[in-house]
Amino acid sequence: MNMKFNTGNLFRKDEQYVWHAMKKYNPDATMITKKAGGVWITDINDHRYLDGMAGLWCVNAGYGREEIADVASEQLKEMSYYPLMNSHVPAIELSEKLNEWLGGDYVIFFSNSGSEANETAFKITRQYFHQKGKPSKHKVVSRYRSYHGSTIATLAAGGQMQRAYKYEPLAQGFLHVSPPDCYRSQFHREDGTCCVEAANEIDKVMTWEMSETIGAVIMEPIITGGGVLVPHDSYMKRVKEICEKHGALLICDEVICGFGRTGKPFGFNHYDVQPDIVTMAKGLTSGYMPLAATAVKREIYETFTTTDDYDHFRHVNTFGGSPAACAVALKNLEIIEEEQLIQNSESLGEWLLQELQPLMDHPNVGDIRGKGLLAGIELVKDKTSKEPIEEERAASIVKVCKEQHILIGKTSDTVAGFNNIITMSPPLSITKDELQLIIDALKMAIAKL
Ligand code: PMP
Repeated sequence: MNMKFNTGNLFRKDEQYVWHAMKKYNPDATMITKKAGGVWITDINDHRYLDGMAGLWCVNAGYGREEIADVASEQLKEMSYYPLMNSHVPAIELSEKLNEWLGGDYVIFFSNSGSEANETAFKITRQYFHQKGKPSKHKVVSRYRSYHGSTIATLAAGGQMQRAYKYEPLAQGFLHVSPPDCYRSQFHREDGTCCVEAANEIDKVMTWEMSETIGAVIMEPIITGGGVLVPHDSYMKRVKEICEKHGALLICDEVICGFGRTGKPFGFNHYDVQPDIVTMAKGLTSGYMPLAATAVKREIYETFTTTDDYDHFRHVNTFGGSPAACAVALKNLEIIEEEQLIQNSESLGEWLLQELQPLMDHPNVGDIRGKGLLAGIELVKDKTSKEPIEEERAASIVKVCKEQHILIGKTSDTVAGFNNIITMSPPLSITKDELQLIIDALKMAIAKL
């Protein structure tokens, strides 16, 4: 598309008409973007930026893939839409493909966003226990600092209260426990005792609340937006055992961790567990089209097929699993496989952590952690107290990187006090040279702290 812009006008209209997901309109900080290719974004002033966040942690295959656009266009011409009360070929093929990726026997329910995928998981959990004759098992346990979506129930599930408190009352039946925070735990990271404590809290809450009322635990394998909290290898397995002890399901939110982000197909692949329900979005289509999925183990699904017809899963989604979105997802997964982007994420991720390591010598760098092409740097006032650095100073890192045309992220919870973690999640198609640009910018920004 050859577009001529009156940039001044566009900024004025943007401020007038577009409600952004941000605090306050800031023309200096707002980019009006116009095109993208690979890991690069270009704005209407023709400034190019390396997107170290893959949009909103989602453009796993990178921008500007013509073959994905072609598949979408062909499918839209062939059949633009039909609801999934019936079926269509792209949804069937994608469901089969997702089973291959998941390494288990799952039935897939499609929707459009990560929030909807999690909402769907909660409704399935509640109805599943109704079907099993245990309707009191309705509560869901999650961790503080987690994020599971923007709707009333997913905000209730999430553990970032600053995002939620103005929309109360939220959905009922959501309980919170401490996240596995190896850096701040008084126990040890090396032997995993930091995480044993966190997992045992789930056991305690389930016991005190009574197993009879607990339906599920929802967790990201690695808490991403809440500060890249990489647990000890033993944590997730212990959580699964606790779920089994209390007869609860394990819902794994793979909205960010999935599709190679952490150097494996899914985040749970690192931890030797197979979840009962897996929710996915973002990297499923690398953001080329909205699509989300809730994968449910067959034995759970089967309790729905034996109910009376009037009592089936009465959950309808108009656009979820649209033919073009499913076709796009299939092509996206094919690219991730053919270009070995998961292996790239794993090896470049290891290299990234090594290259960032010297930053630990800086007095304000408390911790550096990550897995695959997902990384976080925790900034503190001093290493002994571990008190989070002032927000403006953490924000200055993002600002200085942007001045060097590198886009990275930062956590934002000012009330709970974790607005101090710099985050990185570039497209998995990034090259070593491009990643080096992020590292150089970060080093310069941190040196200026
Ligand atoms: N779960 C996680 C872990 C997320 O990071 C997000 C979005 N950032 C969601 C769920 C919600 O996804 P969406 O914004 O597509 O509703």
